[in-house]
Amino acid sequence: MPIGVVLGLCSAVLTALVTEVYCHRCLAHRAFAVHPVLASFLDTYFRVIVGTDPETWAAVHRLHHRTADTPLDPHSPVQHRPLTVLAGSSYLFAKARRRVPAGTSSGKKIFLIRGLVVAFYMVVFGPLQVLLMLVVHLVCYLGIMGMVNTVGHLYGRKPHPDVPGYDVAWLAIPLLGHGYHNSHHAHPAASRTGPLDPIWPLLRLLATLRLVSLDERRAPTQTRACCEASSSVVRPLEEASSLRF
Ligand SMILES: [Zn+2]
Ligand SMILES: [Zn+2]
Repeated sequence: MPIGVVLGLCSAVLTALVTEVYCHRCLAHRAFAVHPVLASFLDTYFRVIVGTDPETWAAVHRLHHRTADTPLDPHSPVQHRPLTVLAGSSYLFAKARRRVPAGTSSGKKIFLIRGLVVAFYMVVFGPLQVLLMLVVHLVCYLGIMGMVNTVGHLYGRKPHPDVPGYDVAWLAIPLLGHGYHNSHHAHPAASRTGPLDPIWPLLRLLATLRLVSLDERRAPTQTRACCEASSSVVRPLEEASSLRF
């Protein structure tokens, strides 16, 4: 496999992890606190790689929670074409960021670091592999984000019938815990989304290293009874398939 593909995959997974742990669970939902040194590193990483500030990402995500599946939702597959939500994460984010308070500017330091990173990869791996890496990174990272916003609001079980989103437990592994999307909308401040949440062991490790301050009351290790409610509702297949692509 070309080295550019491997680097692109690693970069996409790492960036999705930073987005999930720092921007989503820590900043958007205050599920736990991150040590200031680690927070500073993650903030810089996100600005360099994604090109926006983490607080703006968090503000757009909170907008999604407040308006989920209504006409004001920035990326609802119920309100937009699901294919647009799946493939158009960047476009929808760019539109939504105008509706939240402006974040802090990244400044020259971030541009300098980004330039040095690109220069390093160019020298070590060559322009062709860097181009390959960039394409694989964008497709995989935006694909993960698009899948969360699309599948999480269209298909699966609904242990919380009055809350947006659906649960597909096995999807929690590739989607970094977001297979439990209905449960997440019901318990947005929980640091663990469900039993198969792959982020949870990482958070426990970071807590052991005192890099993350977990509130155990927000992250019960046992499955929440309400998420196992017998009132689960699976969206009828014919209803789901009638949605526009
Ligand atoms: Zn959602
Ligand atoms: Zn959320």
